[in-house]
Amino acid sequence: NISIQNLEKKYGDHSVLKGICLDIDEGEFVTLIGPSGCGKSTLLKIIAGLEDASGGAILIGDRDMTSVPPQKRNLAMVFQNYALYPQMSVRKNLSFGLKISGMSKDEINRRTEAIAKTLEISDYLDRKPRQLSGGQRQRVAMGRAMVREPGAFLLDEPLSNLDAALRNAMRSEIKALHKRLGRTMVYVTHDQIEAMTMADRIAIMRAGEIIQFGAPDDLYLRPVNTFVASFFGTPK
Ligand code: ATP
Ligand code: MG
Repeated sequence: NISIQNLEKKYGDHSVLKGICLDIDEGEFVTLIGPSGCGKSTLLKIIAGLEDASGGAILIGDRDMTSVPPQKRNLAMVFQNYALYPQMSVRKNLSFGLKISGMSKDEINRRTEAIAKTLEISDYLDRKPRQLSGGQRQRVAMGRAMVREPGAFLLDEPLSNLDAALRNAMRSEIKALHKRLGRTMVYVTHDQIEAMTMADRIAIMRAGEIIQFGAPDDLYLRPVNTFVASFFGTPK
């Protein structure tokens, strides 16, 4: 499980996260939704260890991870803007994390090719990221997280650059992956339908705070305020 306790983040005197508390169960699929600039990406980066918090703590499986370096947190993050290694081929982008973990060459190739097949990027393994479309890059970014089979996935709008058909296919793929691996997933999206249909629980954020955290039905039927209600188009 991931326990976020009273997390604060300030950039200068701008308070971006204002005491976030969130307890995510082992294996749970949580979607995080809220207006642009409310702090979703910042929250994921702090969970991943890529940004320092200004206050509060992150516990993973009851271990305090607040000052543990990112590579030791057993998480994988997929960024909003993919962040692929531009000079490496797709194959290398996918397998890089496995190489440094000391896995055998055969096993690395087997895993890399299996993931590439799942994501339908097998034909592009020898290309560089700049030779791919946005959607193809996004799938490579997703593959790079999947290949390491981490304890938890932090996904920051991983489907935002895909067309509708591919988006649907990838949604199912991510849900299937979630079922198969049983890993915790925290999934940021702008899309209400995506948030509702994919999640065990949804966290609704506004201006650095979690306004409500609950099962989709709960938020739909019992929104705590009009902000939550308007998010899902329900009257209150
Ligand atoms: P979006 O939906 O547009 O991706 P978001 O919810 O992910 O938005 P964040 O990227 O977490 O929002 O940003 C939250 C706030 O923190 C914004 O006001 C942003 O301008 C500010 N911010 C983010 N990174 C920095 C930084 N490195 N320095 C200063 N301010 C920052
Ligand atoms: Mg963001």
